[in-house]
Amino acid sequence: MKRFVYLFNEGNSSMKELLGGKGANLAEMTSIGLPVPYGFTISTEACNDYYEAGKTISAEFQEQVLASLKKLEEQTGKRLGDPSNPLLVSVRSGAVFSMPGMMDTILNLGMNDETAEGVAKLTENPRFAYDSYRRFIQMFSDVVLDVDTFFFEQLLEEFRESKGYQSDPELTAEDWKEVIAGYKGIVRKHTKKDFPQEPKDQLFLSINSVFDSWNNQRAIVYRRLNKIPDHLGTAVNIQSMVFGNMGNDSGTGVAFTRNPSTGENILYGEYLINAQGEDVVAGIRTPQPIHTLQAEMPEVYQQFVDTCERLEQHYQDMQDIEFTVERGKLFILQTRTGKRTAQAAIRIAVEMVEEGIIDKNTAILRVDPDQLNQLLHRRIDDSHQRNQLAKGLPASPGAATGQVVFDADEAEALGNDGKKVILVRAETTPDDIHGIVAAQAVVTSRGGMTSHAAVVARGMGKPCICGCEPLKIDLKNKQFTVGGTVVHHGDIITIDGGTGEIMLGEIPMIDPQLSDEFQLLLEWADSARKLGVRANADNPVDAKKAFEFGADGIGLCRTEHMFMDTSRLPIVQKMILAESYEERKEALEELLPMQQGDFEGIFEAMQGLPATIRLLDPPLHEFLPDKEELLVEVTKLQLTESNAAELMEKEKLLKKVRQLEEFNPMLGLRGCRLGLMFPEIYEMQAKAIFYAIAKTTETGLDVKAEIMIPLVGHVNELKKMRQLVMDAAVQIQEETGKEFDYTIGTMIEIPRAALTADQIAEEADFFSFGTNDLTQTTFGYSRDDAEGKFLQAYIENKVLPDNPFAVLDQDGVGKLVSTGVSLGRKTKPQLKTGICGEHGGEKSSIEFCYQAGLDYVSCSPYRVPLARLAAAQASIRN
Ligand code: ADP
Ligand code: MG
Ligand code: MG
Repeated sequence: MKRFVYLFNEGNSSMKELLGGKGANLAEMTSIGLPVPYGFTISTEACNDYYEAGKTISAEFQEQVLASLKKLEEQTGKRLGDPSNPLLVSVRSGAVFSMPGMMDTILNLGMNDETAEGVAKLTENPRFAYDSYRRFIQMFSDVVLDVDTFFFEQLLEEFRESKGYQSDPELTAEDWKEVIAGYKGIVRKHTKKDFPQEPKDQLFLSINSVFDSWNNQRAIVYRRLNKIPDHLGTAVNIQSMVFGNMGNDSGTGVAFTRNPSTGENILYGEYLINAQGEDVVAGIRTPQPIHTLQAEMPEVYQQFVDTCERLEQHYQDMQDIEFTVERGKLFILQTRTGKRTAQAAIRIAVEMVEEGIIDKNTAILRVDPDQLNQLLHRRIDDSHQRNQLAKGLPASPGAATGQVVFDADEAEALGNDGKKVILVRAETTPDDIHGIVAAQAVVTSRGGMTSHAAVVARGMGKPCICGCEPLKIDLKNKQFTVGGTVVHHGDIITIDGGTGEIMLGEIPMIDPQLSDEFQLLLEWADSARKLGVRANADNPVDAKKAFEFGADGIGLCRTEHMFMDTSRLPIVQKMILAESYEERKEALEELLPMQQGDFEGIFEAMQGLPATIRLLDPPLHEFLPDKEELLVEVTKLQLTESNAAELMEKEKLLKKVRQLEEFNPMLGLRGCRLGLMFPEIYEMQAKAIFYAIAKTTETGLDVKAEIMIPLVGHVNELKKMRQLVMDAAVQIQEETGKEFDYTIGTMIEIPRAALTADQIAEEADFFSFGTNDLTQTTFGYSRDDAEGKFLQAYIENKVLPDNPFAVLDQDGVGKLVSTGVSLGRKTKPQLKTGICGEHGGEKSSIEFCYQAGLDYVSCSPYRVPLARLAAAQASIRN
């Protein structure tokens, strides 16, 4: 017989798979003696069984739940449904990975007409009893019976108006009784049944609902976004209630053991007096900062501070803790590893090493490389005058500019159109998640630092401002006002999530700098990693950035980008249009000193670190104007008849464009094929490199140039090109009278090259896997067409697990990489190997490269810090 239910005192934190994160931690806290209300957890296996049985619960399962309920009743001395001493419970979902706000919790279960009377008598607080009952009806109806909260709120609002009340606390016990009668009417009207009075029915209906909520829309979206597998299922926690809404000696709150935005080691949280459960996170009232609790309830505060310290020490990580105070007594309702910004993650990891809580390797593993992007983003230029419009809570750092939208659907539509938008809402709910994804940033006028918007934005690394109360949203007129200023839908604003400031219009931004803690963590990472990290840099500016971010060299310098410059393009076009070898040579002579200058700049920037330079790769038509545009121009010129010379020139250009036109340029005349058809182009580039080496070494700098031949598929291609480059070297060495070293290698980006890598290695000093082209040629996809036309659908329909251009396809493309490495090393055991292309900056691909035995990865300069960290993590993990 399978066991489906565990009391809190029967589990521990290592049972997350089975008990879910929340359940496992509730059990752990119980076992170390913290004040956790009694309860039990229904396992994720029960949820999976429920789905396997076609969404029904078995008799056996039911028995187990009832048996545990009995034990809970013994522990608490109360009984579910007993009017003289009723047990009330919460039903809380809890998946293996925390999914904040994704699943619905029901509080006060066990309330019915009789137990409400009982609670009223027992507590001598009828007002509290009926308030709790009506909350239960509302939550239960929403989550289980599918009756929208809106109807209840509408009724309550009308009731308040009829009585002339401003807020809920003004309602008396009798008032709540009246409201409850109304609520029951709503339930009857919408479900054609009475509100269920039998607590056991309430319990099982709720459990079913939690199971069902595993597959509600927002849970599915959240899982897809965070790559959480669908088959895990959720656990359900049944826990006896404690009440934060019993008066001014009660309250509820949430706290982080350190600041989740900056990482500073101070208790950081919020609470509300006389409130229950979700009131804090829902953002309905803006809560008080935690430190003011010290004055209000000094003993409780001290006990809470001690508990936080203890939990942090116990879990050796920053914790996110929910608590409730019932008539002066503290209860802990949840603890979990706190979500944090990248900045906070780094600071906390480094400081915890300094405090002796964790070791350096743990610290390295604590920071998610993907999160680092946030830190490498631009921020507002401080030298610029800020005209602050309003200020809210700085809930998630970073700056953003965009047009104001008030609706999540619209944010999504505009965002998908490539527009930059800032989502402005009174508060956000889990249903807004798609809008937050698409927006640059989020602003809310209500809610605190732990509100839904703040938690979600921090998780995604989006700037966010919460609780900006001066901001009055007027949805009807699609605008918001701050004092006398009106900001319309579509207006541009800039926000700074690090300070909470909102400003009108666009404000200039500047490049980021790495903090001291970040530098330190990266130094630790460098000593832990074996995999080299290089950068892709096509010009001296990028090369400098690469050096600054700690790259071990340049893994890919694409020389064609040097040709695109407006001053050079005409010469390049002259070269392409040349009718004779001499004419072409002439144009190339003009280009040579320009290329040489670029290379000198790059070598200087790298200060002796290696630089891989790839000879010309793209098809020549990329340097010529677009055919359609040319046609229009030629036609226009033909009509005017005035400018014969210009017409002739354009016609010549058009003819050449037509000549060069290919059915499939990606598979056409490009890469080393160009070098073979027009050797003078590669010769010029090789000479420019060698002149640059000769010149740079004169200044005493060391230069390690690695010349790379692209798109080789057959060893003979490489053999010929290698000879050409070597001849050029001899010529320049003779001409300048200087000796210098260099190496010649190739890109492996055609499956045939990977499969014949043993032959190719005969002619190559190094391999660089061009995983972008290799992915195109392995899948037979042209990237632009695939990403534009079908890849998104493939991923959504789970035909492919990921976009193979972003995450290396280890089974296919990866196999070619491994084959290439091992065949190459059969010929040359010391063969240097690396990858270039976007995959070099993606953490799972980096780990794969480490396992495949590559020497380095190469990625864009801004991703170098990320890659250094990911490379270290790969070493530590393996
Ligand atoms: P979420 O996963 O959305 O945070 P929770 O299950 O943690 O949902 O519960 C929502 C709110 O209800 C939290 O504020 C929590 O502290 C409160 N809550 C849950 N169970 C109880 C309980 N037994 N007594 C009092 N408050 C509770
Ligand atoms: Mg919670
Ligand atoms: Mg390529």
